[in-house]
Amino acid sequence: MLRTCSSCLRPIVAEVAVHFPCPQCGEEEIWRCRRCRKLSNPYRCPRCGFTGP
Ligand SMILES: [Zn+2]
Ligand SMILES: [Zn+2]
Repeated sequence: MLRTCSSCLRPIVAEVAVHFPCPQCGEEEIWRCRRCRKLSNPYRCPRCGFTGP
């Protein structure tokens, strides 16, 4: 299954990416690519709409 970065929506391939459950609903896995983590791009949970840094 192809993962996409929750910030820039680019597909995450074999790179260093972080993922964690949504802080608000805990139902959705948030994925962030290394670039977005470095830039502190905001992400958005596709399930509950939570946005955070
Ligand atoms: Zn990204
Ligand atoms: Zn959520």
